Amino acid sequence: MSPEAAATAAYIVAALLTVMSLAGLSKHETARNGVVYGIAGMTVALVATVVLAAGSLEAGAVALLVAGFVIGGGIGLWRARVVEMTGMPELIALLHSFVGLAAVLVGWNGYLEVEAVGAAQTTVAPELLGIHSVEVGVGVFIGAVTFTGSIVAYGKLSGRMKSRPLTLPGKNALNLGALVAFAALTVAFVVAPSLGVMIAITAVALALGWHLVASIGGGDMPVVVSMLNSYSGWAAAASGFLLDNTLLIVTGALVGSSGAYLSYVMCQAMNRSFISVIAGGFGVESGTAAAVEGEHREVGADEVAEMLREASSVVITPGYGMAVAQAQYPVADLTRKLRDKGVEVRFGIHPVAGRLPGHMNVLLAEAKVPYDIVLEMDEINDDLASTSVVLVIGANDTVNPAAMEDPGSPIAGMPVLRVWEAKNVVVFKRSMAVGYAGVQNPLFFRENTSMIFGDAKNRVEDILAAL
Ligand code: NDP
Repeated sequence: MSPEAAATAAYIVAALLTVMSLAGLSKHETARNGVVYGIAGMTVALVATVVLAAGSLEAGAVALLVAGFVIGGGIGLWRARVVEMTGMPELIALLHSFVGLAAVLVGWNGYLEVEAVGAAQTTVAPELLGIHSVEVGVGVFIGAVTFTGSIVAYGKLSGRMKSRPLTLPGKNALNLGALVAFAALTVAFVVAPSLGVMIAITAVALALGWHLVASIGGGDMPVVVSMLNSYSGWAAAASGFLLDNTLLIVTGALVGSSGAYLSYVMCQAMNRSFISVIAGGFGVESGTAAAVEGEHREVGADEVAEMLREASSVVITPGYGMAVAQAQYPVADLTRKLRDKGVEVRFGIHPVAGRLPGHMNVLLAEAKVPYDIVLEMDEINDDLASTSVVLVIGANDTVNPAAMEDPGSPIAGMPVLRVWEAKNVVVFKRSMAVGYAGVQNPLFFRENTSMIFGDAKNRVEDILAAL
């Protein structure tokens, strides 16, 4: 078998493994297998690419390739091993930025390769030069938008940038203008490829990516993360066309379309317009949130233990704070203890609780909480009114009644867990500070709400001890 035929066979295997990986990742029970298929697919693809390339490259280039493989793989392995669960979203955003940057470099390489030898000498067939220029323009554009968009997402998710939306005057006109400029520049590039036009396409795309994500408020960031995931797939697919690599086209398209579908599902779950979010908050007027005032009631671990002793049903709604505190283990112990006493305990998971899709489910699975008591928001919301106690563990935006009651709130219209309908609500957090969307939460001042301050892990352990 020729090396090319072997590589094609390996690519088909890798593409199938990618499909199996995505299918596995769609359910809790099969997610672990999904990850294994993904790793296997990527390994097959990388090895096949390096072996195939090694056959046609000089020794120095092969050494570079292997060094890139080992150093890049080593850094990836190290980062993945040391990253905290709370740092995952920003790591993912950073990884998307690398895919975007790679697509920009591949695009530039595609342009420079033709420039270096001249259109007459290049390996690109003369009748395909126009298509090649379109591929270069589109590849660089998608890659650059993904690159800066992901850098801003990284900044917002890691707290290095404010999560508040940037509202430049005429922001929609700016975005539209950038798209029109890109279309015009691409036409100019196809007619007469030049360094100046390449630089202009890159600059417009870098600015657009930055502006699109900077214009999105904290509450809508989950959709942005999955959208950038989708863009990174399309960027990889665009590189695949330029490099004539079918595997990149197939896997890029798979990531692109599954990411786009995830963004759509998340928009539906959050009652947001998909078009509005991908267009950098198009059509969203920034209102003014109503002032939230009142007295809150603070309780200690003993009082919460007393409440739980008398409860017949308990719902736990975890949020980002549970991840920060790593409170899932004592929460799982508390669940077991209450269930042993005959209390009905269930979990209510908001689709965007935490900082990445499925964040809470992963933590609870890690702490061995049975899947069948972990319910989605829509499955639990109607039962909250008949619940004795709701424990809000480090959640804030996802249990904020302002989303339903205050049309001026930045999170207005976002479906939330209606925890305030329960008989008693206990909120675990360290202070009265706002959540990720930067919005005040009137829940904390409701008559049936009690606040228990401090690190959620310590507080749950105190309650366990008191029980
Ligand atoms: P929030 O981010 O709204 O609030 C988390 C709360 O946890 C804070 O109010 C904080 O209060 C508290 N907290 C932090 N550390 C601790 C600790 N050690 N112990 C106890 N409490 C702690 O969380 P939600 O999960 O409710 O909402 C998620 C938000 O993140 C939404 O706005 C969502 O749109 C956004 N988002 C979600 C993504 C996703 O894919 N899921 C991705 C990007 C953004 P205090 O400081 O007082 O302790």
